[in-house]
Amino acid sequence: MSGTILTADEISRFWSKIRKAEPGACWAWTKEVNNKGYGRFTIYRHGGRARFLTHRLAYQLTTGRLLGSAVLLHSCDNPPCCNPAHLTPGTQADNVADSKVKGRAVAPPIRRGESNGQCKLNDQKVIEIRRRCANGETQRALAKEFAVDPALIGRVVLRKSWAHVGDEAGQAETGLSEDERRAMKRRAARNRTAKVTA
Ligand SMILES: [Zn+2]
Repeated sequence: MSGTILTADEISRFWSKIRKAEPGACWAWTKEVNNKGYGRFTIYRHGGRARFLTHRLAYQLTTGRLLGSAVLLHSCDNPPCCNPAHLTPGTQADNVADSKVKGRAVAPPIRRGESNGQCKLNDQKVIEIRRRCANGETQRALAKEFAVDPALIGRVVLRKSWAHVGDEAGQAETGLSEDERRAMKRRAARNRTAKVTA
């Protein structure tokens, strides 16, 4: 995967169009979106142009990781959101599973009525689920108690969903490791160019 080098000007133009909120909240892209609601950022070079999906760009700029063909999942289910703490790389299969858990897929729901795709978890419940699972309670029992699909409990425990909800440690606040956060600060300080893929 070759990637495109964005200039410091392009990077700062990009970030200026994102409404950044506190670390745990959604950061909305405020400009053009595509037909699926994802933000779109365009750069112009030598009479041509290149387009990027804004959540993918935000993730690559903050983590320094190239996504290539990997899909990027929104734990918040909010397409224009560019908060890297709400974004997790995955496979297309993860994406389909995620859509089903969230009730977005075309397939009929596994349990009619009760699981209607509405969000039944909140930050507190997520923390409690992770704690109790770590203490040996089964995911199936927790799924029953919280009235959610067992697959969702699994994703919560593995931090594939609700990755932005941290434990007590400050490190988890952004879903990034200490090393990644340090690298992020260094890059921000230098305001340098960055290599990204579409
Ligand atoms: Zn979000």
